[in-house]
Amino acid sequence: MPTWLRHCCALTTLAAACGAALGVQLVDEPRSLGWSAAEVAGAASLQQTLAQADAAGALGCERHCGRLARVFDRLLEPAREQTPQAAQLPWALTVVRLPDVAAYSLPDGQVVISESLIDDRDLSDEALAFVLAHEMAHSILEHERQLLTVGRLLLPRQVDRSVHDMYVEFAHNFGLLKTLEPVLHQGEFEADELGLLLAALAGYAPRRQIEFMQNEVADDDQRRAVSATHPPPLERLERLQSLLPLAVRLHEHSGRSR
Ligand SMILES: [Zn+2]
Repeated sequence: MPTWLRHCCALTTLAAACGAALGVQLVDEPRSLGWSAAEVAGAASLQQTLAQADAAGALGCERHCGRLARVFDRLLEPAREQTPQAAQLPWALTVVRLPDVAAYSLPDGQVVISESLIDDRDLSDEALAFVLAHEMAHSILEHERQLLTVGRLLLPRQVDRSVHDMYVEFAHNFGLLKTLEPVLHQGEFEADELGLLLAALAGYAPRRQIEFMQNEVADDDQRRAVSATHPPPLERLERLQSLLPLAVRLHEHSGRSR
């Protein structure tokens, strides 16, 4: 079981016993992180993506407006139940139509997705729920703050650094980024796993959700960058498959079947 997942046996027993929609808290709030959540959130912005989309006339949804709104809305309730911080975030979905943007999220709960991703991968509602829930999981688990905290520990201690200083380091210090690769990969595994469970709680069938990763494995050309932010798709799929029994039970007893 993933280390971030809290008392999963009790959760499934409770869910099975109730047999109706109920709040299920899967994670503990991250602790002992550097900077405040507000400082980290304040350093992030969608500005670059918005400007790029605006210049290309590609801002906003066109072909998938209804289901994007519906899927994101269904995910909000289980997302907000996870931590006090997640309950307070100003969750919002921004849609663009840019081929070089897939999906990402900011620490303050803003999620960005491109309709190009939905069309290119022909995403079902379940696969779309997995992608959006994966991004929301990054915000819930405060992965950006974790990465900044670990990064600062790897740099000389005598120098005070702001969040902005750390981003300058990330942009120019390849050795630091390479050293942080295992932290990045762990964050992706955790976002996959929490994303799968959140979408299951929202009523999306887990086996159909992971078709997204099965397709990623099928399309994997095995070429790897010198420094990769994401683990290989096959490893991600294997981790998701190992979590399927729990995800299926949460889905069956979520009371939120589609
Ligand atoms: Zn991710």
